[in-house]
Amino acid sequence: GARSDPSPGRMLGIHLRAVAAGGSGVLALLAAEGGIGRVADLPLLFVLLAGCVVLGEALPVTVPGHDEEVTTSTAFTFALLMIFGLAPAAICQAVASALCDAVRRKPLLVAVFNIGQCTLALAAAAAVLHAFGAPATPAAALHLTPGDLLALAASGTAFFAVNNLLAGVALALSQRAAIRGVLLDDLAFQAGTAGLLLGFAPLVVAAASAGTFLVPLLSLPLYAIFRGGRDAQLSEHHALHDRLTDLPNRVLFRDRAERAIAAARRGGRTVAVLIMDLDSFKEVNDTLGHHHGDLLLREIGPRLAARLRASDTVARMGGDEFAILLPDVRGADEACEVARAVLEQLGRPLTIGGVTLDVRASIGVACFPDHGDDVDVLLQRADVAMYNAKSARAGAAVYDLNQDPYSVERLVLAAQLREAIERREIVLHYQPQVDLATGRCSGVEALARWEHPERGNLPPDTFIPLAEQTGQIRALTMCVIQQAVAQCARWQAGGLDLDVAVNVSARDLLDLDLPATVDDLLRSHGLPADRLVLEITESMLVADPHRAERVLRQLSRLGVRIAVDDFGTGYSSLTYLKRMPIDEIKVDRSFVLNMATNADDAAIVASTVGLGQNLGLRTVAEGVENAAAFAVLQGMGCDRAQGYHLSRPVPAPELEAWAARAAGGELLADPPAALLAS
Ligand code: C2E
Ligand code: CA
Ligand code: CA
Repeated sequence: GARSDPSPGRMLGIHLRAVAAGGSGVLALLAAEGGIGRVADLPLLFVLLAGCVVLGEALPVTVPGHDEEVTTSTAFTFALLMIFGLAPAAICQAVASALCDAVRRKPLLVAVFNIGQCTLALAAAAAVLHAFGAPATPAAALHLTPGDLLALAASGTAFFAVNNLLAGVALALSQRAAIRGVLLDDLAFQAGTAGLLLGFAPLVVAAASAGTFLVPLLSLPLYAIFRGGRDAQLSEHHALHDRLTDLPNRVLFRDRAERAIAAARRGGRTVAVLIMDLDSFKEVNDTLGHHHGDLLLREIGPRLAARLRASDTVARMGGDEFAILLPDVRGADEACEVARAVLEQLGRPLTIGGVTLDVRASIGVACFPDHGDDVDVLLQRADVAMYNAKSARAGAAVYDLNQDPYSVERLVLAAQLREAIERREIVLHYQPQVDLATGRCSGVEALARWEHPERGNLPPDTFIPLAEQTGQIRALTMCVIQQAVAQCARWQAGGLDLDVAVNVSARDLLDLDLPATVDDLLRSHGLPADRLVLEITESMLVADPHRAERVLRQLSRLGVRIAVDDFGTGYSSLTYLKRMPIDEIKVDRSFVLNMATNADDAAIVASTVGLGQNLGLRTVAEGVENAAAFAVLQGMGCDRAQGYHLSRPVPAPELEAWAARAAGGELLADPPAALLAS
């Protein structure tokens, strides 16, 4: 936002300069006025107090949980004010402040502003003290009376008010925040610390009156406070950072993520949480030793920082796992781009202790509000996405509900699926298969649909994988086979002779009871076994080929037909076509869809059809979406076609109507000659 709105920036400049100029003017007057001469009365005391001011300025106290630092010099400056008057106090404070700002390389304007700020605050305090009646000499000032405490309280208040007002306005303008808010923020804390420090000033005066030599001892308690503050800050740092890498730890990451989510909720923005896991860290540790492993972990933070913004957080969550917080992204896509950039940066060769390593990692991405609205859910989901990315060797992956076995939505859906199977909310739609030689409907593929009471009609992709992963696929398959067999038997009884194909899952092929169950079903419905086709895929035969073969053989012996679905997409060898009891191959729709435009695909379809013919298998082409494909398949001698060009999967009554029309010969009415030629 700094570029869009220049006015607060200008105001800040004006404020800083005004305070700097005002303070410098007062200092110049004081130097000229000669009040500084009073230090000659008690020179040693002045030098000691001045030393304490410089020391206090050099060692500011940091208070855990608060952003600003507290300088203990205020107590001694105030003692100087009480004993020697404004000029020595202000000049001494100005010199100490200038020295320390110079050492810390503060910008000149800021340094002069700091001098101006405390000079003006001291001047206000001096004016109030004066109103109560100033002592005649420094020596007289050393004798405190109870009334002096009252004067001190009043002037301390003036000091605090002016000091805080000037600093608060500067802070508000630089942060573009409301001045009132900044002034009130932390007011109790600031007033408290100011009160403590100012209350120390009369003790300094009292010590000086008892003996100048006591004054340096007073810096001891203040130094103790400084040390305590520093230790507290260090232990806070240790509590929130990882020892090995010095990156934020899980606690700090969660804290920052919570803040980012709260801010994003107000601003309607997206927060991304990334979990990153190194792919081969264990090997580095095992082969090169823990020392190299540690060095590698230390390299990660700096490497990632190169691709991230200052406002992003990289944390070490433990082991070789890191998390990245992107507090403001446009969406999951942008987060994924960042993840890729990070992986790329990480993948550059890294030389550690003379060994060049190839560092790879996997990243999972989850976003607020898309994937969850609290840190724990996002972390857990980013973790799930990371595992998916790792097992797919994909580098980076965004969380996907469908792949998360632990998500609540998924567990709910799995429980609902169990009931849906019992209550018969799983229904079948039937997609016709047309005999390419006659144009008649000769079979159907049964495709499952979930009529979900709240979500409407769910496609199989949403619940088949869920059923497979939650151990319900057997029940689901039986539910589908039952309905398909019953429907097919009704059609047979009504004179409609169709075979019905059912998809089975890999898990079903490990079920040694499947053949007997299917046999019982066919018998109870009086359906000839060869009317039932079971569709399997090549990849299903990989898990336990011997067992799958046994189940398939038993089914085949019953007379049930076996089809290989999605043929051409698997990796297994062609030998199983000979070994296994296969009756049919279904050419995968990806080849059929592009047949008209892609010569390679056309060649694959043609040779698959040829292979089927040579082995005496029925060939079915799926994904026939237009008349051109239909005609080409006819020319190739393919047996059957299935696809949107003929019909989408439809409920049983519609299928009956469709089959009746196809029987009337409408389909083969006029295959356009031009299309046949292509
Ligand atoms: P699949 O076995 O390859 O089924 C064919 C899918 O292709 C169906 O999608 C169908 O609607 C679609 N399709 C049909 N013709 C065309 C076309 O011309 N063009 C295109 N682009 N697509 C076409 P659906 O019904 O969504 O089924 C998806 C997958 O779900 C099926 O793929 C099958 O693997 C699985 N599935 C469906 N029902 C069952 C079931 O009861 N049990 C099991 N285990 N899996 C099932
Ligand atoms: Ca199928
Ligand atoms: Ca298929």
